[in-house]
Amino acid sequence: MRIEVIEPHGLCAGVNAAIACALRLRDVYCLHGLVHNEIVIDELKALGYRFVERIEDVPEGETVLFSAHGVSPQVREIAARRRLHVIDTTCPFVTRVHRAARDFSDRGLPVIILGDSDHAEVKGIAGEIKPRRPRASQRVGVVAQTTMDADEVAARVSELRKTYEVEAMADVCTATKERQDAVKRFCAAPGSRGVLVLGSGTSANTKRLVAVAERCGARAFRAGTLDELERIDFGDVETLGVTSGASTPERFFDEAVKFLRHVPRHLAIIMDGNGRWAMRRGKRRGEGHVAGARTLANVLRWCGARGIRYLTVYAFSTENWKRPKEEVDGLMNLFVKMLRSKALDFVHNKVRFRMIGRRGDLSSRLNAAITRLEESTRNFKREFIVAISYGGRAEIVDAVNAAMRAGEPITEETFRNYLYAPDVPDPDLVIRTSGELRTSNFLLWETAYSEYYFTDALWPDFTEAELDRALADYAKRHRRKGGT
Ligand code: SF4
Repeated sequence: MRIEVIEPHGLCAGVNAAIACALRLRDVYCLHGLVHNEIVIDELKALGYRFVERIEDVPEGETVLFSAHGVSPQVREIAARRRLHVIDTTCPFVTRVHRAARDFSDRGLPVIILGDSDHAEVKGIAGEIKPRRPRASQRVGVVAQTTMDADEVAARVSELRKTYEVEAMADVCTATKERQDAVKRFCAAPGSRGVLVLGSGTSANTKRLVAVAERCGARAFRAGTLDELERIDFGDVETLGVTSGASTPERFFDEAVKFLRHVPRHLAIIMDGNGRWAMRRGKRRGEGHVAGARTLANVLRWCGARGIRYLTVYAFSTENWKRPKEEVDGLMNLFVKMLRSKALDFVHNKVRFRMIGRRGDLSSRLNAAITRLEESTRNFKREFIVAISYGGRAEIVDAVNAAMRAGEPITEETFRNYLYAPDVPDPDLVIRTSGELRTSNFLLWETAYSEYYFTDALWPDFTEAELDRALADYAKRHRRKGGT
């Protein structure tokens, strides 16, 4: 399946301005969702935003933000009475529709609003007009929600003209129209075409883009999260056009496109060869581990640049405790040093740090460094998972014991809940360095359907070009996961 990005797509100027304004503020109430997108809303909630459905729910004297969808004059009056400090991010296109509706109504015309009656924008516009029931042949004013389907608006205005004398100011906004026109152009090309619209199911313009694609004869799909995307069966679609609603963040769009283009979501690496690298150079094994740690810092950065969401590395296995004490102590010290020295980098780059393995085997000093870093990065979405004192068999045994303690009958789905990181999706690709062709007890449960890539490079010599070779190789593979 070929993936084409449909341009223009995504965040419109109105939503962009509202989000930019919101991100500059703190301790603010927001009337309704700022945008119809759960990813953005969750981020704002994390920043301390409080979302309310009624203006009366904002305590007197507080600051309230009105979204790009606008509000009715009645809401503005209540805000003034309650002495609220108002930050108004109403989009100028929406303001124009308010003005038109008000003008029609002030001139005594009944006003017909084309749109979703329960949408915040329509409710706001309705507040501008005096309700009047139109009679046949009477002159009426017609306005439309800015994110309607442009063709549908034109058709409904024509229909209304058969009954009324219509004065219309019913243009959808430029951003909406441009995105719909781009979908129509994409669908007009020959071949088996599908359109994927990225955006929330609550977003009006996202739903309209789906409707436009279907009307143009394409198969249409919608996904608001990567989990939803993963569940879509695109069937026999040859070319998939990807677009997004006006409130969908571009970083989600990028992540989804990378997923579709087969950039692995979860990469796991068996970092092997530090000792041999050191010995070949007449150095101590510990120096090999230090060189390996440098490579790991680079790989984390390269994976971030390629949109890989989860990176899990095998740093120290349950079997590695059998190594000479001097080497084990050196490694444990290196872990503590790395965790402390890189802590700020993790926060700066918004990477969540997690450890999997038997924590009880580790010193209190190392456990404290791990816990501190896990706590300070827990809200970040990109994840770096380090397996220390880890064994695939040990993880399964620990999971079985935990399930037995809970007294829960085990299925494949419930068993997963007892693994060390149950919320992390299974690795798509496992890379093993140093020419060894074994899994070495790494993520035995989780890699049941993972692809493997083996390279002769010793871990300290692993380069960005080698990573790209592995990713290119992975992108060519057809992952059937047991299917046909
Ligand atoms: S979709 Fe159109 S009307 Fe709505 S915020 Fe964006 S630019 Fe403004």
